[in-house]
Amino acid sequence: MAKTAIITGGSRGIGRALSLKLGELGYNVVINYRSESSKAKSDEVAKELEDTYHVETLVVRADVSKYEQCEALVKAAVERFGDRIDALVNNAGITNNCNWIDIKPEAYESVIATNLMSFLHMTHLVLPYMVNHSSKDEQCVICNTSSVGGLTGVINQADYCAAKSGVIGLTRALALEYAAKGIRVNAIAPGMIMTDMLRGVNQDELNALAATIPEGYIGDVSDIAGALEYIFTAPYLTGQIISPNGGFVLQ
Ligand code: NAP
Repeated sequence: MAKTAIITGGSRGIGRALSLKLGELGYNVVINYRSESSKAKSDEVAKELEDTYHVETLVVRADVSKYEQCEALVKAAVERFGDRIDALVNNAGITNNCNWIDIKPEAYESVIATNLMSFLHMTHLVLPYMVNHSSKDEQCVICNTSSVGGLTGVINQADYCAAKSGVIGLTRALALEYAAKGIRVNAIAPGMIMTDMLRGVNQDELNALAATIPEGYIGDVSDIAGALEYIFTAPYLTGQIISPNGGFVLQ
């Protein structure tokens, strides 16, 4: 029987690469997006998954910072693929770039809601559809996108770092809680990866950023997809934080 995976923020950037990797691994993929402008991108990812990997897809619009919209997303997935969910990739994320005096509460509440609360909501809602069939021989997998910001501090990113550290705590606690049920929970903590999140930064600043990375360059979404593949295919791996970052956190 084909397995089902849900990915939040799966239409572009790192999420797009992870959606395609899920298809390559043989999963039917539920691709979530939030912005109207990402509808067409989600449909393109779905078509590429169907054409290349011959898996089935479902595209669902939902703002995962809101519990009710997470509920609707999971309901749509269950209606389409049945009440066995095999994998969840929590990937949706946003950033602010502001010092902690000038930042507005609405701005940091939004970062926490998107980058941490959505992960709590989605795992809370999906776990019942995993524990109903998971076992040592038929594992389910949860993969959370954290960040090097969750491992170190980043100036003007206190809210983001708080959320991404929270994701690491969530990952370790759920890994412990569900290991015996055959559900593995791991996180990827990317270093700097070239996506829309960095595209607003001018070339001089990008060069300066690259110079702070021991490997000397900004990573690619394929680096994160490679980490996802490792997590999905490593049955003895749980509660771990894999960080493809070019050596960034070694300094
Ligand atoms: P991106 O290109 O800006 O993509 C962000 C994704 O998150 C989009 O698919 C977006 O969907 C989705 N999203 C945002 N808010 C959402 C919401 N409320 N509900 C549903 N989806 C939502 O950024 P990215 O670099 O690929 O980031 C992906 C993940 O990697 C994030 O968790 C980010 O924090 C993490 N990360 C990135 C880097 C980096 O250097 N790029 C480094 C470390 C960690 P829409 O397009 O529909 O809005």
